[in-house]
Order: sequence, then C-alpha cells, then structure tokens
Amino acid sequence: MKNNQFIYFDNAAKTIPYDEVVEVFIHACKEYIANPSSIHALGARNARLIEQSKNKILDLLKLKNHQLLFTSGATEANNLAIKGYALKFKNRGNHLITSEYEHPSVLEAFKQLEDEFGFEVTYLKPNIDGIIDKDNVISHIKNNTILVSLMAVNNEIGAINPIEEIALELNKFPKIAFHVDAAQAIGKLEKAINYTNVDLLTLSGHKIHGLVGVGALIKKKNINLLPLFSGGGQEFNLRSGTNDIAGILAFSKALEISIRDEKKHYEKVKTLSNYLLNYLKENEDIYELNTPKVINPYIINFSTKNKKSSVVVEALSNNNVMVSSTSACHSSREKESHVVISIGKDEKIAHNTIRVSFAYYNEIEEVEDFINKLQKIMGEIR
Ligand code: PMP
Repeated sequence: MKNNQFIYFDNAAKTIPYDEVVEVFIHACKEYIANPSSIHALGARNARLIEQSKNKILDLLKLKNHQLLFTSGATEANNLAIKGYALKFKNRGNHLITSEYEHPSVLEAFKQLEDEFGFEVTYLKPNIDGIIDKDNVISHIKNNTILVSLMAVNNEIGAINPIEEIALELNKFPKIAFHVDAAQAIGKLEKAINYTNVDLLTLSGHKIHGLVGVGALIKKKNINLLPLFSGGGQEFNLRSGTNDIAGILAFSKALEISIRDEKKHYEKVKTLSNYLLNYLKENEDIYELNTPKVINPYIINFSTKNKKSSVVVEALSNNNVMVSSTSACHSSREKESHVVISIGKDEKIAHNTIRVSFAYYNEIEEVEDFINKLQKIMGEIR
C-alpha cells in the first residue's frame, strides 16, 4: 500500500479514496460553488452535472430504466428504502421479510417498523453456506407480504447472496418490492450482479474508494416511497436537502473506477486472500474459519479458538495492523457477532471473530507480515 506506516486490512469498514476521487472533489469544491437548486446559470450548471452523474452511474450499472437519488450513505438509503416503502404501502399488507445477518441500518429499521408501526417481520436464517437462498425467501412469502430486503454481500463474513435469482422469482409477486443493500458488492465481485429486476438498491461511497458522506438509492421509476425528510423537494421530493455537488462528483468517479477495474482488483485481492486462507486452514487447531465455502476474497472472517479476539485485535493494532473484531458499526458495543451466530456458530466462536478485509492496494508482503505478527501475538497471549 502507498502508506507503509501501517497495514490497513479494514477495508469493509472504510476504503481509502482513489487519488482521482480526491482531485475531483477538490476541483468541484473550488469550481462548482453554487447551490444546484438555484435557478441562475451557476446553479443550473451544477444541476446538469448532477444529472450527468446520475446517468453515468445508471449506465455503469446497466440500470438505464431506474432512477437514482443521492443520500448521505448506505445507512440513509437503507432507511429510506425500507421505512419509506413500508410506511407508504402499509395499506397493502403489513408483513416484511429480511434476514438475521443484515447490517444494523437494515435490522434496526425493521425493528422500528415492528415496535412502533405494527409490522410483522420475518428474519430469515442463512443456510449452512451462509447464504439466503431463493427457496427460503419464497417459502416465507404470505398474502400480506409487501417488502423483501436482503444484502448482496455480507459485510462481516463476505457471503454472496443469489440476488439475480431471487429478484427474478420475486418479479412474479407484483405486490412485493425487493430491496438490496449492495454496499459491499459494488466493484468487488468476480462477476458483477445484474440488478435489473431489483426495485430498490443501496450504494455507499466510502466502500468503493469514494468519500464518506455520499451514497445512493436507486429505484425502479414506478416505485413510490414516503420521504423521511420534508423540505425543499430535491431528489424527486424523496430526499430534501441541498445536493452535495462535490461529494456526488467524487462518488461517481469512484464508481466509474471501481467498475472499470473490478476484474483487475478482484484477481489481485484473490491472491491475498488465498495466502491468508492457506495459513488459516493449516492452523485449524487455533483458528475457525467463519467465511463461507464460496469465498469472496475481499472479506475473510475467522475466530480465535482459545484466545480473546478483542485482545488479539488490540495487540495487532499496537503492532500497526488494522483489522476488525466484528463490523466497525457495532464492534464497540456488540458482545458477539450476530452474523456469526446467524450461520449457526456457538457463542464462544461468535465472541472471538476477526475480520480481515482487503482492497486492491494491499500487498502480499503485508499479508505475510500480518501472519507473522498474528502468530507471534497468538503465542504471547494467555
Ligand atoms: N450496509 C452494509 C452492508 C455496510 O457494510 C455498511 C457499512 N458498514 C452500511 C450498510 C452502512 O454504510 P454507510 O456507512 O454508508 O452508512
């Protein structure tokens, strides 16, 4: 990696922005000074630039018939999709489906709908391979189901769900909208997912080497939502607030590079994860792999069988190696990983998880260094 002061293996929590992204952002901050909603020439130019960014992103994702609105990130996009849809169409039915191992921005939105708004929510269990399969989803549909929300790639264990297959099947149920949180999937797969049949799609900038503070919700044009923010009516009246022109241009640059280089990055990251996986498999007496059989090389999750992972993660950090115990979003408050519990592991294993998440700028020497330090720390800790 560019920075050789430390080893950064926490890319599922946040990636480092591409240099081009930072350049675009700085240029935009200086050049595109006006509010895109202003009707004068400078405002109108910025509104056009935002429109062009939307078209570019939809084009890159091959979603020309969808509509995109920018948000502050995946948390907001997930909340808007889930609460916005459920509350808008409450009269059509009050049953919702999601999975046990979603990100907190999905799980907590569903909990709120259950606790405060009288919805019934089914939380699907992943199968032994860590995947939510099509039959599991379909068998839980009821007459009053109006929304299914599933993540494309799990942020803790890297499981990849069969989104295209589920979307195709759900198309047969016109009353049900399908929302997909693709924050960890964009630009990081061997074969990019086709989201054509998905109704609502969440993206996040800082997972794809963009900047924190920008994400997007992409939706089919006919999908209506209840806005969570009232205000000036920006973004089709669904997300009021002044558009962050610089952040948006930076986000669309990040997406462009991530999709352009997806294959190249994937191949590089695969060599890193294979190296680590070999080490973990050779040492099955001390580590348990939580990452599912179908390996997504970007996220490797394992547990320390006889040591506290929080102590290991702290010792690694003291040795300038940055990894996570659970996901960064709840690593400080969650005792055990709800994701690892959901795939059937016991509490001790779920309590002692370590997540190593790679990016294209990581190097094999860093993985070697990490393994050496990990081995030393494991030997030293009681
Ligand atoms: N969904 C998933 C799958 C994630 O990994 C994350 C980030 N950890 C989020 C949602 C939240 O993203 P953001 O930080 O952009 O709100």
